[in-house]
Amino acid sequence: MEKIKLNNNIEMPIIGFGVFQLPEKECEECVIDAIEANYRLIDTAQAYYNEEAVGRAIIRCGVPREELFLATKGWVTEHSYEKARMSVMTSMRKLQTNYLDLVLIHQPLGDYYAAYHALEDLYKEGKLWAIGISNFSAERMADLTAFNEIPPAVNQVETHLFFQQNTLNEWMSKLGIQHEAWGPLAEHRVSELLDNQAIIRIAGKYGKTPAQVALRFNIQRGIVVIPKSSKQERIRENIDIFDFVLTDDEMSEIRTLDENKSLWLPYDDPNIVEMAMS
Ligand code: NDP
Repeated sequence: MEKIKLNNNIEMPIIGFGVFQLPEKECEECVIDAIEANYRLIDTAQAYYNEEAVGRAIIRCGVPREELFLATKGWVTEHSYEKARMSVMTSMRKLQTNYLDLVLIHQPLGDYYAAYHALEDLYKEGKLWAIGISNFSAERMADLTAFNEIPPAVNQVETHLFFQQNTLNEWMSKLGIQHEAWGPLAEHRVSELLDNQAIIRIAGKYGKTPAQVALRFNIQRGIVVIPKSSKQERIRENIDIFDFVLTDDEMSEIRTLDENKSLWLPYDDPNIVEMAMS
């Protein structure tokens, strides 16, 4: 399993399994399938309501805890120092672990500075091995980095073939923050990605699937990807991307698919606040 080194020297797998929209029961079995398929990074969140299922899978899977990289995210309603701290302790209890590899501020909304201070303290106490952010624009990310003691190790943002996030990626490199891609298969537009003629042609050359090419593109950019699937064969397919390398020309061709806009609500739209709180 390829790993990248975060800005605090903690190693993080370059591919993980995302569990958004996996209900409790299904989630537990899918995480077991994922670990059997050799995923070691599992990405959950308080807002996914499946941390307990992930915890049960972690206990059942037979792989030692120290070989796994467990990541969760704190939700907006917990954005005060005390609430954030308590909510992370609750996440740890649900995940049946006494430390977490990575905890992210899920959304740059409300008093996320206070929540970030709580993560900093938990990090200093050794309960969190890395802390970071999600859905932060370049401006908010630079601000948070400049005015806090511990720089975020990761920014998890929407990133896929149709929204490649080149500018944000440059800022992350500049600030030493690891880019992690959520929705790496373009989620509800996955069928467009699978039907794209250029991607089909490139995939055919390597005997791979379009989904594998889409994931490979981002890991070749040094971006961590966390695809989700509820199907065992796709869970296996999505991690089987380490036996081929896209050429520079293929990388350039795929770069032209970038539409440079979110498939959801952009984070500079004030409606995002209402949506996040609903
Ligand atoms: P993805 O881009 O991972 O796409 C998931 C969709 O693709 C599902 O419909 C899945 O269907 C389908 N799919 C998966 N693999 C294949 C394949 N090989 N061939 C064809 N279809 C496939 O979207 P997500 O939104 O789930 O993002 C991934 C993870 O990112 C989440 O699970 C979560 O951990 C994180 N995330 C974080 C967010 C944040 O705000 N920080 C927001 C959204 C996601 P099926 O299940 O039927 O296989």
